[in-house]
Amino acid sequence: MSDRTKQTNLVHGGTKRSQWNEVSEAIFLTQGFVYETAEAAEQRFLKTGDDEYIYARYGNPTVAMFEERMALLEGAEDGFACASGMAAVNGALMSMLKAGDHIVSARALFGSCLYITEEILTRFGVEVTFVDGADLAQWDAAVRPDTKAVFFESMSNPTLELVDIEAVARIAHKVGAKVIIDNVFSTPVYSKAIAQGADVVVYSTTKHVDGQGRCLGGVILGTRDHIRGVVEPYMKHTGGSMSPFNAWVQLKGLETIALRVRAQTATAMALYEALEGHEKLERVIYPGAGSHPQYDLAQRQIGTGGTMISFEIKGGKDAAFRFLNALEIAIISNNLGDTKSIATHPATTTHQRLTPEQRSELGIGDGLIRFSVGIEETADVVADILAALEQV
Ligand SMILES: *Cc1c(COP(=O)(O)O)cnc(C)c1O
Repeated sequence: MSDRTKQTNLVHGGTKRSQWNEVSEAIFLTQGFVYETAEAAEQRFLKTGDDEYIYARYGNPTVAMFEERMALLEGAEDGFACASGMAAVNGALMSMLKAGDHIVSARALFGSCLYITEEILTRFGVEVTFVDGADLAQWDAAVRPDTKAVFFESMSNPTLELVDIEAVARIAHKVGAKVIIDNVFSTPVYSKAIAQGADVVVYSTTKHVDGQGRCLGGVILGTRDHIRGVVEPYMKHTGGSMSPFNAWVQLKGLETIALRVRAQTATAMALYEALEGHEKLERVIYPGAGSHPQYDLAQRQIGTGGTMISFEIKGGKDAAFRFLNALEIAIISNNLGDTKSIATHPATTTHQRLTPEQRSELGIGDGLIRFSVGIEETADVVADILAALEQV
């Protein structure tokens, strides 16, 4: 099994068939499991073996298939599936931290990730030092002998700035800190994060893994010892486990994720080529473009520019709104990694909570558009954006 390629594992990995030998993975929509005898129940509670379950918060056959397929895709030993990406981020951090611990985190974080690091962890006595994730000198200066973990998004939202996983992992491992990465924008298809030094990789599977806007999910990936010894006890007792229904939807999502993500990436590159130098645009940000300051790092880290592209429209909020309202194919929403192209205005939606100063520090101008590329025909998406820019 292990020498199969990722693509084949995405279709077959983790599959366990019931006595009916069904083709499509079964959805075990059950909260619990029957024991043949009282003795069997006693034994099960004493120690659960492979394919032995007690309660869906602890584990479920459909969820286990999803966890195994995700672990195979990431090249991790094991994984724990969570109710949402945020349940996964919270679980990855809270399960291994206690009062008095110190962590270092990149500042450019998804809003809810910032809330956990800035508001929740500190409330429980964890000291958090924030750094500019792209500046290795700041990581170096911030880690201490008592630093338990470093946390960052490998590609930031919405300005698509990369953090060098290998370099930060070297800095963190020198002091014995664990490297925890929120890897959504890099996607599990392109990720080599564990080989590059990550100890724990977290995904919101709501994004590319589902990829069709249906349900929330998340996953925490790492070594078997860490997932079963540290993460699972925290998750199964605090209630953030994934529902079997969502696991089934996203298990099916994994079958097509590589095809979707590659198609999205190809269109993102075509969009960059069509938009670069456009007279209505201040700048176009795409890490797959040779002109991007982190092009070499992007190639080394994920081998591509990914499925997201951001661009700043001249004329601020009014111009950005006129552009958004003129789109005919791309929809205005805030999910990403979806089959449908999605345009977002971060300054007034996902990053509205920040002050104008904080936004400008993160490079989020009033004209900035974050564009999640879908799998529509490339020429149609390009034409849609160019026509909408005409209306600006
Ligand atoms: C969406 C997202 C999350 C949160 O995931 P949910 O599934 O919405 O809980 C966390 N981090 C990043 C980078 C995301 O894009």
